[in-house]
Amino acid sequence: MSNKPLNPLELYKHLPKTNCGRCLLPSCLAFAAAVVSGDKKLTDCPFLIKEQLEQLSTGLQPRSKIEPDQVEFLNQLQEKIRSIDFEEIAPIIGATHRNDELIINALGKDFTIDRQGKIRSECHIIPWVTAPLLAYATNPTHQEITGTWITFRELQGGLDWQGLFTSRCERPLRQLADDHPTLLSDIIDLFMGKETEAFEADIALTLYPLPHVPLLICYQAPEEDLDSKLTIFFDACCAVNLHIQSIYSLCAGLIQMFDKIAQRHI
Ligand code: SF4
Repeated sequence: MSNKPLNPLELYKHLPKTNCGRCLLPSCLAFAAAVVSGDKKLTDCPFLIKEQLEQLSTGLQPRSKIEPDQVEFLNQLQEKIRSIDFEEIAPIIGATHRNDELIINALGKDFTIDRQGKIRSECHIIPWVTAPLLAYATNPTHQEITGTWITFRELQGGLDWQGLFTSRCERPLRQLADDHPTLLSDIIDLFMGKETEAFEADIALTLYPLPHVPLLICYQAPEEDLDSKLTIFFDACCAVNLHIQSIYSLCAGLIQMFDKIAQRHI
């Protein structure tokens, strides 16, 4: 095995692929994603033999290594922002430019990025928004909103992150919506969302976590013996405007924030 860290798809290839659920996750792919993110251990799958455990564990990053990587990633983005022409980039990415600062609206709130890559906002700066905001502003390619909605797995690179996206984003949000029936309507009010009739769902709402990164949440409430269903769609431009990892981070952060809102205010 190479020294390169394992990604969920590579790890999945080594699993039994029976989706038996003994690891307390619904599928081997979800297990692979959870192991890579540090939320599960290889030994939680009872079917991996000693040799496999030894071989696979060399490709996994210890949890403690993940944080410094993120710090390094942020440092790189802050370095990059110093060379960006704010005046030129602002209209392209749907931002405004004032006093050599870039102002980006996210979920109805203004976030101001200064020359050093520091962010300030009218509201509390939520750590998960920092890296995606800087990544969005420093992305060299950009596409206008297309109006075509696609699933996470259809985004470029989405397949590799699908397991994690399902377990950290779609599934917990579905559970929150089941437990707090007014949550999605409250999100519309709190974050300048828009309800849309275009989809067959009990509630379909669009949100703009970044100006040109729209997402659409479609929720079908449980009915008699049918489980509820929730899918998050993305405009086809999203994967051009933001790297898949940042899209995932943005969504995972959003769901954590919705969870806090549900616990505190609803
Ligand atoms: S216990 Fe192993 S085989 Fe069963 S679902 Fe989990 S990873 Fe797959």
